[in-house]
Amino acid sequence: MRYHKGEANPADVLSRMPLPTSTSKQNVADEYVNFIAAHAVPKSMTIQEIEQATQSNQQFQAVITALKTGQWHPDIQLFYHSRSELTVTKTNLLLHGTCIVMPQSLCSRTLDIAHQGHQGIVKTKQLLRSKVWWPGIDKDAEKLVVYCLACQATGPACLLSPSKCPNCPLIPGVHFIWISVLRFPWEKCCSW
Ligand SMILES: [Zn+2]
Repeated sequence: MRYHKGEANPADVLSRMPLPTSTSKQNVADEYVNFIAAHAVPKSMTIQEIEQATQSNQQFQAVITALKTGQWHPDIQLFYHSRSELTVTKTNLLLHGTCIVMPQSLCSRTLDIAHQGHQGIVKTKQLLRSKVWWPGIDKDAEKLVVYCLACQATGPACLLSPSKCPNCPLIPGVHFIWISVLRFPWEKCCSW
């Protein structure tokens, strides 16, 4: 029988030895990024779908290259301003903070999903911001709600009649939109 010092003879080494995966800081960071991406996928979409759309979007590929090289082409200036918040996942998905950057081909569908309950501009924006981002997302959300026929038909503001704006130009539909969005729509209409 021979004596071995404890430090040279760790007990139960196989179960105590740390696994080679998830030990490095890089792996932990990757896992975290993947976790964020997986939880930021809107319902009715898959992460693979967004990855494919990202891969086939030339602008997004240019952004990903720019993030890696630090060289930004003027065509992607909209993303340049947000570069400090952009990251790329291992599967080449773009993230803006904890939100997925949606390729243009999926933006319209994403807006529709976020507005399925017709909750109005504020709620729709909140839902969008909790998961996704793209340049101009707020304006796109506002447009969607303003032009949403279901919201116009059921919103309390639609009780106001266009006839209360006697001096407005008579463009069918235009009155309806302003009346639903503004508190005193005739003031805005008549300032033209
Ligand atoms: Zn609506």
